[in-house]
Amino acid sequence: MTEEEIILHHGENEPEFINAFSPPVYQTSNFRFQTVDAMRHALQSEKEISVYSRGNNPTVRLFEKKMASLEKTEDALAFSSGIAAITCSILNSVKAGDHIIAIEEVYGWTKVFFDQYLPGFGITTSYFNGNDLSELNSIIQANTKLIYLESPSSWFFSIQDLKSISEIARSRNIRTICDNSFASPLGQNPSQFGIDLIVHSASKYLGGHSDLVGGVVCGPSEILSGLFKEEYMNLGAIMSPNTAWLLIRGLRTLSIRLNHLEKTRETISAFLLQHPKIEGIIHPFEPDHPNHELAKRQMRLGGGLVSVFLKTNDPAQIEKFCNSLKQFTLAVSWGGHESLVFPAVSLMVKQEHSGLPINMIRLYVGLDDPRDLINDLDNALSLGFL
Ligand SMILES: *Cc1c(COP(=O)(O)O)cnc(C)c1O
Repeated sequence: MTEEEIILHHGENEPEFINAFSPPVYQTSNFRFQTVDAMRHALQSEKEISVYSRGNNPTVRLFEKKMASLEKTEDALAFSSGIAAITCSILNSVKAGDHIIAIEEVYGWTKVFFDQYLPGFGITTSYFNGNDLSELNSIIQANTKLIYLESPSSWFFSIQDLKSISEIARSRNIRTICDNSFASPLGQNPSQFGIDLIVHSASKYLGGHSDLVGGVVCGPSEILSGLFKEEYMNLGAIMSPNTAWLLIRGLRTLSIRLNHLEKTRETISAFLLQHPKIEGIIHPFEPDHPNHELAKRQMRLGGGLVSVFLKTNDPAQIEKFCNSLKQFTLAVSWGGHESLVFPAVSLMVKQEHSGLPINMIRLYVGLDDPRDLINDLDNALSLGFL
């Protein structure tokens, strides 16, 4: 199946959809049965048969089936947020006394979960830089049960060698999870490199219109049926049918949106690279990125994010630049239609450093015309420093 075939047709045209092109939103908590026998049968497979919407809802299931196909995995489970998909997948992989290895540059709230929440349950986490495989080998312990990756990572977009790491993990009976939000399922399929579970914040590219929060985990049926019975049904961080419907709609334009972003990001990057007030940019598809070769091998698309270093370390000048932008709006997150700017200085409180270089800003190009974005950057850059 091509990606378009999956997005547009897979799982649709069911007889119960009464010939509708757009699948119905099954806005119901409960489902009825005709006989005790049918009810008994359904109760034994709550993941596949609709009994109650905390378990199975047809609209949510349709989104899950599309995601499993797009990520080339056997199954998928949708959650109320990306971080719920992440924390439930982690909880399913470890128990008291176990050890986790994660990349240093992991998403902020995932790191909070490792550092502040899990230690209370006797689960510890060590970090490695993501590229040094001998460092990885040296910190694996007898109780290491999970290696957690994010490729590309936030801000620096560092890339991990998914195939080599999954081989190391498999040989030691360690599970692997990769956060694939930044690459998207059209840009990279970690399952093809041997990664066990793939997690996404659906709030970003998958939804694509800044109108929902959701998450999804994709992987083998065996792991996901355990995850369903444990974390999914017990913690109940499920996706609503309405959110699933918005995601099915968002997915229909995923390929068009991502291919548009790709061209815009390339145009904006070229403009920034030649600008005298820009010190440099970071993107894995730029030849000077430390993981460029690996990125080209693993990823088909590079997305709409690029990190930029301004040629000034004066916070007032950096703030003036960001405040002057009109097309790029100050905001966290990314993946929607709107273009965004997220400066490292916004993370500084009372001169306290965030760990990121002070002159770093993260740009997200949305669906704006690249000419408008370039004019906007050009104007803001003309106003200050130098
Ligand atoms: C946004 C994000 C998350 C968290 O997802 P939510 O949907 O906001 O809960 C996790 N990982 C990455 C890489 C993200 O960008």
